[in-house]
Amino acid sequence: MNDLEKNLNTQSSCEMPYDFIHKIDNSKDDKKENNLKDEKVKSTPPLIKEGYVTVIAGPCAIESKEQLDIIAKIVKDSGLSFLRAGAYKPRTSPYSFQGLEHQGLEILKEIADKYNLYSTTEVTDAETVEEVAKYTDILQIGTRNMSNFALLKKVGAVANKYNKKVILKRGWAATIKEWLLAAEYITSRGDVELILCERGIRTFEPYTRFTLDLSAVPVIKKLSKLPIIIDPSHAVGQSDLVIPMSRAAIAVGADGLIVEIHHQPEQALCDGQQALDIKQTHEMLHQVAAIAATLGKKVR
Ligand code: PEP
Ligand code: MN
Repeated sequence: MNDLEKNLNTQSSCEMPYDFIHKIDNSKDDKKENNLKDEKVKSTPPLIKEGYVTVIAGPCAIESKEQLDIIAKIVKDSGLSFLRAGAYKPRTSPYSFQGLEHQGLEILKEIADKYNLYSTTEVTDAETVEEVAKYTDILQIGTRNMSNFALLKKVGAVANKYNKKVILKRGWAATIKEWLLAAEYITSRGDVELILCERGIRTFEPYTRFTLDLSAVPVIKKLSKLPIIIDPSHAVGQSDLVIPMSRAAIAVGADGLIVEIHHQPEQALCDGQQALDIKQTHEMLHQVAAIAATLGKKVR
């Protein structure tokens, strides 16, 4: 029995010593050689930085080059550095828009390079991890895949090999313990900057899409040394609720946000109802910056 197994077998669920999850060392030299063949890859700064709140923004899905160009420019002009956008979309319904897939990845890389933004996109199965890693800086594992252990292992190995960062979303029915163990599947594969993302869990409340478990933030801080960001968009599912929950996320100590934005939410092919429009995006950043300032942090 190794140390991890011993810890989990002997501790009550509230007392697990998650210190064995390695500390993300943001001070390390980030210019590690990137081995992707034929790709000139920019060096990515740490996703989470002491004294800052990192806001990742972008559309739910890449719909066209024109759409991503407009939204990336909003992200850049807002002073942010991280763009989110889905190419492979794991939709609940097989009849919903499934994303532009490989073509979406090409668009993502072109637009991120154009605006000098770092990108994150979801990786949905083990077979496409290497492919996705060629086009993005941060591999995102979605809520539906938190317990896909074959995918977690592959993502850990590929992220380690190519110096990619990983965002691991919480499964919507996963306990914090299950989430942290899923994180171990990735970090045990090597030296990976891993960021947890709370995106809402399923409860009996149907008014919001999910219930944002903000208490996960101090609990994760207590149990582990991993950074944690909040996705208010998928949690509440309605754009007018995103700003208050973004403020709350920063107040409770989250290291950042990942937020869906769109220049024309009503035209969006995916999750338009929860996307902030341009005006709301500026308002969200303004309000988040005010809360961050009270904690001595800046928005990046
Ligand atoms: C997303 O971020 O695009 C997404 C699908 O989120 P989640 O996995 O949290 O549903
Ligand atoms: Mn979405």
